[in-house]
Amino acid sequence: MLHRLDHPLAAHIITHLRDCTTKPATFRTLAYQIGLLLAIEATRDLPTQPKRVDTPLEPHEGRVLAHDSLIVVPILRAGLGMVQPFVDIFPDVSIGYIGLERDHATAVARSYYCKLPPLDGHRVFLVDPMLATGGSAAQAITVLKQHGATDIRLACIVAAPEGVAEVERQHPGTEIFVAAFDRALDPRKYILPGLGDFGDRLYGT
Ligand code: URA
Repeated sequence: MLHRLDHPLAAHIITHLRDCTTKPATFRTLAYQIGLLLAIEATRDLPTQPKRVDTPLEPHEGRVLAHDSLIVVPILRAGLGMVQPFVDIFPDVSIGYIGLERDHATAVARSYYCKLPPLDGHRVFLVDPMLATGGSAAQAITVLKQHGATDIRLACIVAAPEGVAEVERQHPGTEIFVAAFDRALDPRKYILPGLGDFGDRLYGT
């Protein structure tokens, strides 16, 4: 269930995001742009309904979005960098937050913050820029399901094979939208070739 952005602009943006000489201000702009492409791709199958309008010249039977109940949920903190693109194209979107931190002893992600709107019956877009081991994403999907979500899509900028496999193992059939599908993880669980620590580069920390 992996969907990869296939567009020359996506390749262009990703390459500049990877470039270690890209400064935080440019990185933020590029992250916004790739987030926008991902938001469009991840919502490709939103249902529409007919709507009759009058153009300046004649009546016209058009279509408008039928789904008025989208929810975007970033995994803190890096996921925050992918929220604005959703808000800009779906102004009525609701936003939830999941904060996860990894226990250094067990390497298991633990939820330290969770603020979610009602999820039942809504389409939920979980956003996390780097799908590395997949542990956090899988844990966040578990949290979303515990809160009643049944229609969950995961959008990531870069994914490693290990991360995709882990999400698929824990939550079979999850639709995952990525801009880049990279080679592997290094021993420190960074994605290769990747782009480094997304949060650090986004926030200049
Ligand atoms: N998180 C990041 O920010 N980068 C990686 O390569 C892996 C996880």
